[in-house]
Amino acid sequence: MIEPATPLEEIRARIARACKIAQRSPDDVTLIAVSKTHPAEAIVQLLEQGQRVFGENRVQEAQGKWPELREAYADVELHLIGQLQSNKAGEAVALFDCIHSLDRPSLVTALGKAMAKADRQVPCFVQVNIGAEQQKGGCAIPEVPALLAQARDAGIPVAGLMCIPPAEIEPAPFFALLDKLARDNGLEGLSMGMSGDFETAIMLGATYVRVGTALFGER
Ligand SMILES: *Cc1c(COP(=O)(O)O)cnc(C)c1O
Repeated sequence: MIEPATPLEEIRARIARACKIAQRSPDDVTLIAVSKTHPAEAIVQLLEQGQRVFGENRVQEAQGKWPELREAYADVELHLIGQLQSNKAGEAVALFDCIHSLDRPSLVTALGKAMAKADRQVPCFVQVNIGAEQQKGGCAIPEVPALLAQARDAGIPVAGLMCIPPAEIEPAPFFALLDKLARDNGLEGLSMGMSGDFETAIMLGATYVRVGTALFGER
């Protein structure tokens, strides 16, 4: 009997297919399994299938779940994908291997200090408010070059740009715009694409896709 494919196998196959169409190597696209709100047991299922890169959006929730999991699976890579308060910068630097939500000068200052103090350089993506939405986090497009310069001066390794496009409209133009912004600023990393649009994002250059619901089910 043929075993039905797991959600992880399905997502990996879809990533591979999108890469093939875009003539990109699947090695250039990293799947971040977004485990926010999901319990350790659900995470262990993916760990047992070989997934090692995970995303959480809250420092406190990650602190509760991950230290124990990391002891059992040493090669885990943990990414912070949610907004970060400056007063949690030290905790975030201690816990995460990559931060996708660097979006304002005060946070650059706080993270720069926290990294220097811990002597630990955590790569960061600058989150861009790509749809210029008032209620949304992210750096405004015209302010991106200055924030990047500030981050470099603070000794923060910048991995690239990240965005969450506006809901309910076609995301492709926003992904293309983020790609252009990254190129204009000499950056290679692009954190974009979620459960509903990661194939589109890959065709437009995503190097990290952040997939939650399609792997773990509804939150
Ligand atoms: C929750 C979340 C995701 C995953 O979204 P899904 O639609 O469940 O795949 C990706 N990126 C960020 C920033 C998130 O907060």
